[in-house]
Amino acid sequence: MIDQPTIDRILDAANIMDVVSEFVTLRKRGVNYVGLCPFHDDKSPSFYVSPSKNICKCFACGEGGTAVHFIMKHEQLGYYDALRYLAKKYNIDIQERELTDKEKQIRSDRESMFIVNAWAQKYFTSMLYDHIDGKTIGMRYFIERGFREDTIRKFQLGYSLDKRDALYQEAIKSGYKKEFLEKTGLIIAYEDGRVNDRFRGRVIFPVHSLSGKVVAFGGRVLKKDEKTAKYVNSPESEIYHKSNELYGIYFAKQAIVKADCCFLVEGYTDVISMHQSGVENVVASSGTALTHGQIRLIHRFTDNITVLYDGDAAGIKAAIRGIDLLLAEGMNVKVVLLPDGEDPDSFARSHSASEFSDFIRNNETDFVRFKTQ
Ligand SMILES: [Zn+2]
Repeated sequence: MIDQPTIDRILDAANIMDVVSEFVTLRKRGVNYVGLCPFHDDKSPSFYVSPSKNICKCFACGEGGTAVHFIMKHEQLGYYDALRYLAKKYNIDIQERELTDKEKQIRSDRESMFIVNAWAQKYFTSMLYDHIDGKTIGMRYFIERGFREDTIRKFQLGYSLDKRDALYQEAIKSGYKKEFLEKTGLIIAYEDGRVNDRFRGRVIFPVHSLSGKVVAFGGRVLKKDEKTAKYVNSPESEIYHKSNELYGIYFAKQAIVKADCCFLVEGYTDVISMHQSGVENVVASSGTALTHGQIRLIHRFTDNITVLYDGDAAGIKAAIRGIDLLLAEGMNVKVVLLPDGEDPDSFARSHSASEFSDFIRNNETDFVRFKTQ
């Protein structure tokens, strides 16, 4: 499918340091680099990268190999898809022939689901910008929240029409299969043949994986109707394991490494407002208690985490939950309680990045002390 000269070019271009450091924070040790292994539950850095040999290896679990092996394992891709991934990274053109029907079928469900989600993200964004309802309802909400145009584009925000099956109809018309719309949870198909869109009349927050693929969506309702759930989220699927994802990690990872610290907040809008005010090393657990998998994800980039919570009683309770887990993972945990009545979203909107940093510096408490206060 990819000719040999092209494969050789990709293999030559793929620099192991480049490839691994996109996912693992590496520190120099002698002639090698070392970091926490992404393939096992690593508490002391066991994952070695040798720039001179252009390979990586974990001395605890044995995983590793060339850049292609690393990508295959890390991104759960086959050999050729790993090559395509690297070709894209290094801007190498691949001349591929058209796939046969049989080959198309063989392409994994996972890949089809990513393709459907990528399409849906663009669809939701186009509704936000081009549809009258998107402009007057969805966009108005974002603007009232103080989100700038570049912020809305960066986080790929969108809008779902308040219609029963608008997305479904458009997807079928565009050639996407019902099977994958259902598997990603974009639609709900009933036994009697009825099909409903999952997200209706909501602003849409795509959830990106560490490598930037859309794995799920969160939709916030705008109508004030007590019978409707405020948030609807994509269900668990082959490509979305909620307990292993953190909202914002794709946009935050470089800033986390640079600051050697990660802020943890509760919701989508907390993350977005903080980014907009210039604080980019921030992720959200999206309302659920922190999990082991989420902590490991952060731990790959830093040992230091600062939990930001609302100053009310519920906020304090939520802050204490989950923190024992962070400590057990060997992380340094600090806590900042925001002034009463503020959440990270409102606080970021009313303060500049430097004011925000000053407040954090003056108010962060080591967790062990915080708990005994
Ligand atoms: Zn390992």
